[in-house]
Amino acid sequence: MKTTRKNFIKNSLLITGGILLEGKNFFAKASQDISGFKSLNENFGIYTEKGGTIGWYVTDDAVVVIDAQMDDSVRNFYNGLKNKTSRRINFLINTHHHRDHTGGNHFLREFTDNIVGHEKCRAMQQKFDGNSDTPQAYADIVFENEWAVDLGIEKIHAIHFNPAHTAGDIAVRFVNSNIVHLGDIVFNNTYPYIDFPGGANLHQWVEFINKSLSLYNDNTTFIFGHANNDENVIGNKASLIQMKNYLTTLLEFVDSQIKSGKSKEEIINAKEIPGFAFLKERWNGARRMNLESAYEELTRTK
Ligand SMILES: [Zn+2]
Repeated sequence: MKTTRKNFIKNSLLITGGILLEGKNFFAKASQDISGFKSLNENFGIYTEKGGTIGWYVTDDAVVVIDAQMDDSVRNFYNGLKNKTSRRINFLINTHHHRDHTGGNHFLREFTDNIVGHEKCRAMQQKFDGNSDTPQAYADIVFENEWAVDLGIEKIHAIHFNPAHTAGDIAVRFVNSNIVHLGDIVFNNTYPYIDFPGGANLHQWVEFINKSLSLYNDNTTFIFGHANNDENVIGNKASLIQMKNYLTTLLEFVDSQIKSGKSKEEIINAKEIPGFAFLKERWNGARRMNLESAYEELTRTK
């Protein structure tokens, strides 16, 4: 057959269609292989079971894991990871100190070259879990503002904008894949956990999201620690904007209630935060806890 322009386009479309179809099947197969694993591209995926979403990056040259869940679920994750690679983990990166993100550090330690985290992530993990019965492993590479590594076909850039959900939150970007693991900066469609002893600050949390919105772009894929279901631990800027709007509304609502002379009890027992009745309570009393936290922050800073 003579290759006319028309035929050429038709053949290209068939080829493209074939590759896309194959790709789709490959990802579907990958996500069905081991429960909890889901691929986002050829090298990068997530794992959900218990606690914060794990991100993983696997190539012939490097293996990187973001967050480690808990001491039990991390073992299931690692068994699945071993099906994908026989390499050691080059970097395990902690997005923050909470034990549903660092509890698996100890198990992964012997298979990992370096654990990376913000300096406050290590300090808070030592402070709150250092004396617990559960064995701990801490970051051995810590930083204050930014940390980056070049893996050849991929680059990682981690940044701490300011305290937010904890004192030591970081956003971890896989630059070429344009994927950002945001840790617990976004609780997608659920009430967030607010940890003042761990360094949380609602006003600064909004700032962290603003800085993320300006640094990353409209095509960035974000991974969130928690969501109302496993599908929604992946999202785009719309989820960041929703989280920012929630935190802003929460602060404004509680502030207006304080100014109208309501008591603390009345305020924290409100049945709804305007516009956010759809948020899921991941534990009983989550909304009340959010209202009380906003009340505390607002009355503390006045
Ligand atoms: Zn957390």
